[in-house]
Amino acid sequence: MGGPIPAAITERDGISGKICNQCKKWLPLAAYSKDRSATYGLRRVCKECAKAYRAPREWHKRWRDEHPEYAQEYRENNKEQIQERHKRWELAHPGYAAAYTKRCETMKDLPGFGYTRPAHIKARWEMWGGRCWICGARATATDHVKPIARGGAHWPCNLRPVCTSCNSSKHARWTPLAWADVRQLLYDTNTLGLPQVLD
Ligand SMILES: [Zn+2]
Ligand SMILES: [Zn+2]
Repeated sequence: MGGPIPAAITERDGISGKICNQCKKWLPLAAYSKDRSATYGLRRVCKECAKAYRAPREWHKRWRDEHPEYAQEYRENNKEQIQERHKRWELAHPGYAAAYTKRCETMKDLPGFGYTRPAHIKARWEMWGGRCWICGARATATDHVKPIARGGAHWPCNLRPVCTSCNSSKHARWTPLAWADVRQLLYDTNTLGLPQVLD
């Protein structure tokens, strides 16, 4: 999970609360947004701090979307600086660029690769609410539901957001019944008291 250790829940005047990791104030639990993937199911940072953090970033993103010509002009006027920055990054991250190129090369041959644009992937993430399609935790990567190693394509319909832990436990697993459905089936048979069909 990373980041500082979340503050424990304590009581004050009969109200449960915890310390915000940002403003360090003790606040009642209602001051925190829910987050299923976080400890106690609540965010580490209070709603106010989260909003203050988000606002300038969202403003910047909106501004950038509304002024696409600015980015292009910037790129054209600062070609050398950008290249320089790129080189410095590559030096600081040895092997990464090569691995990335190799991955791109594999991806290039996949059906759907030329079609799928970042907007498609964004739409897939939005459809899943930015949550892992298997466990519902906050997603960190895009999964090929039918794995590339099993002939899975790069069409948007084969892409879903996935969390780090499910991504590493799934590997190249794929059944005609999607992995998430297997989990759901197991869950249903358990909660409904039906005989177990799978172990
Ligand atoms: Zn705060
Ligand atoms: Zn997951």
